[in-house]
Amino acid sequence: MKNKSCLTHLAAALLAWGSSFAADDAPLRVESPTGALTVDGNGIGLAPSVASCPAISPKGDPLWAVLLQPEGGPPLKGETMALTDKGQAVRKQAEADGVRLIYDQLTDGRQTWKIALTLDIRRKGDAFEITGQLRNDAQGWVVCGFIGPVLGGIAADLATHPVLMADGFGKRINRTPTTTEKPAPWSPSAHGFEITSHYPGRSGTMQWCAFAGEKGGLYIGSHDAAHGGKLFDLRYSPATGRFGIAIKHEIFRAAGQSWAMPPMLILPYQGTWHTAARYYRSWFDSTTSLCDVPGWARDASGWLLCILKQQNGEVLWDYPSLEKLCHVADQRGLDILGLFGWAHGGHDHLYPDYLPDPKMGGEGALRKALKELRRRGKRSIIYANGQLQERDTEFWNTQGKDLAVIQRDGVSVQQTYHKYNNIPIYRFDLGCLATRAWYDRMLSLAIQANDFGADGILFDQLGMSGPMACYAPGHGHPVPAMVYASERPAFIRRIADHMKQVNPEFIVMTEGLHDSVLDSIAMFHGCVLGMFYASSEEIASRLRRDRATDAFPEMFRYTFPEVMSTVRVPTPMMDREMANYTCAYGLRYEIESRYAPDVRYLRENQVPDTGEYEHVINKPDVGMMKATPPGEAIRYLKTIIEFQRAHAGLLWRGRFSDTQGFSFKGDGLIAKGFAAGESIAVIVWNPGNSPQPFALDVPGAELMSASEPERGKVEPFGALPPQSLRLLLWKRRASIQ
Ligand SMILES: [Zn+2]
Repeated sequence: MKNKSCLTHLAAALLAWGSSFAADDAPLRVESPTGALTVDGNGIGLAPSVASCPAISPKGDPLWAVLLQPEGGPPLKGETMALTDKGQAVRKQAEADGVRLIYDQLTDGRQTWKIALTLDIRRKGDAFEITGQLRNDAQGWVVCGFIGPVLGGIAADLATHPVLMADGFGKRINRTPTTTEKPAPWSPSAHGFEITSHYPGRSGTMQWCAFAGEKGGLYIGSHDAAHGGKLFDLRYSPATGRFGIAIKHEIFRAAGQSWAMPPMLILPYQGTWHTAARYYRSWFDSTTSLCDVPGWARDASGWLLCILKQQNGEVLWDYPSLEKLCHVADQRGLDILGLFGWAHGGHDHLYPDYLPDPKMGGEGALRKALKELRRRGKRSIIYANGQLQERDTEFWNTQGKDLAVIQRDGVSVQQTYHKYNNIPIYRFDLGCLATRAWYDRMLSLAIQANDFGADGILFDQLGMSGPMACYAPGHGHPVPAMVYASERPAFIRRIADHMKQVNPEFIVMTEGLHDSVLDSIAMFHGCVLGMFYASSEEIASRLRRDRATDAFPEMFRYTFPEVMSTVRVPTPMMDREMANYTCAYGLRYEIESRYAPDVRYLRENQVPDTGEYEHVINKPDVGMMKATPPGEAIRYLKTIIEFQRAHAGLLWRGRFSDTQGFSFKGDGLIAKGFAAGESIAVIVWNPGNSPQPFALDVPGAELMSASEPERGKVEPFGALPPQSLRLLLWKRRASIQ
């Protein structure tokens, strides 16, 4: 909410003031091999020399805004205000490879603030880089955000240059709102319409976006190794038909403090969007290493997520029955059991206390069950919520309330998760990750999970929540501070590092996705855009690009092909369409057992009616369960998983190369590449209902074989049967000779 309010204030402030540049000032100019960047009173312009990159012709939108609020913790008086570059005195200085803009102090035309800002705009290789320094010496004021630099007046046509934004695994924005439909997923804004992405969190998983044409485009990234909280704001003005990108940095800097703006990179690029993805990845690799995932996890097909005891106290699977769950997982080819609701409180109740439950057999039975599970070749992940603590519990009363994230109005950030309509609503505060006590509790839960014999711990939700402000004193951070931002990767990494010492095979997982935790998270429990059920119709829509936006999972998968994530199917089965989707995108499978009828489905192949979930608020997909007989769903999932296992070197351990390195033609078909060493696998998927011909070639490589999960070896280029996959295996010619 605070973000919206800041942006509204900004918008009002922006319209009021004149330019700091004189009208006859020559624009400042920075050149690179890919174009010329100009800065004048209208903003930042771009004349790209890359033919397919959109130009930027600024229209006078503010270049930046500093957001201010009065100093102090809650209850805080006074509104957030915005000072922009409009009306400020600026000195311009030529620098090597660029220019520097210097603002010695800031004014709103009446009052002056001792806040100094410099912006450096320079060439960096083929790109342009903008960095900055802000120094707050305004006593009594806290800088509470910085918006900018703002790129306005981007002349793009979404029909040829859709925007890729890192919402979940990726979102492609295909067109602007029309006058005859609701603007969603666009939101009305002071600029017309906007779509925002909040990093790091489920809606902002990477720090880049692109206007992505077939032959070239415009990359805009924030290369912030500290993973600070920020919003990527895509703006569209129906009045001008132009687009804008604004990055809003979520910071707090009290009087006496400085802030270095992380580099913003602007790159006109040639080729498909994969070039932009590689550019970001290349920067990422210069700052961070990906988590070293143990072999057993790398080769895991996916998991059976299982709630043992529900929020209402109902025991669905006791510890001795984990043996039966192993059998259920075996039947389907799933390698991991995700044990949710395994503790005395049940799922989403009494957090963060997690004790073995005597009603489920007690600690001895749990240890025995985990041992047996391992003997049977399965792995187990034990659940702990990484952020929730239930209010009015003993933990909360004795220490938790002092660890809670507190908002500006003095009230804690609260969440509710209500599973049944006939039980009370439990309320949760969020543990502030900066506090020692919350860290100690989470670490102790990981140690406990390992001690019980589990193979890993899932800290639920830490890949979901975006950054937020915390105004609580005594947390070890300044007041206020942004939390669930830069400190979160360090929080998880400390636990993961500790556990590596205890047991190198033990993994840390979380729910959601964002790249700030890739150095410590071995696998994600996917619960973000691109991981949800994708029907044939959904895939056909994505191929047609006929909606305002689409999920575009290729974006994150290609940028980080090593990153493992499960899909999200909160139903005790997945159908053929979803199994094929999971395989084609190189994701990991999941099915979920959450409620009593789910258990009957898994134990007895009994297909439930919706009525059996009487008090359940978020029911599974009963329609999907009814549409495929249980035996058939089990058979197909097992078949496709064993097919992948047979090609694990490519499909699980290889690099997802999307559409790079081969040419493909096939109506309504999806083709995705996986590379490992000299081998290339291309999976061709027909999500439609009729056989489809296709043409495929991997230049410089020789076709070795073609196979399908159900038919084994097949004719490589015969029409692809409906609802099926084919794997074509190629080897680079140089390696054959
Ligand atoms: Zn805090």
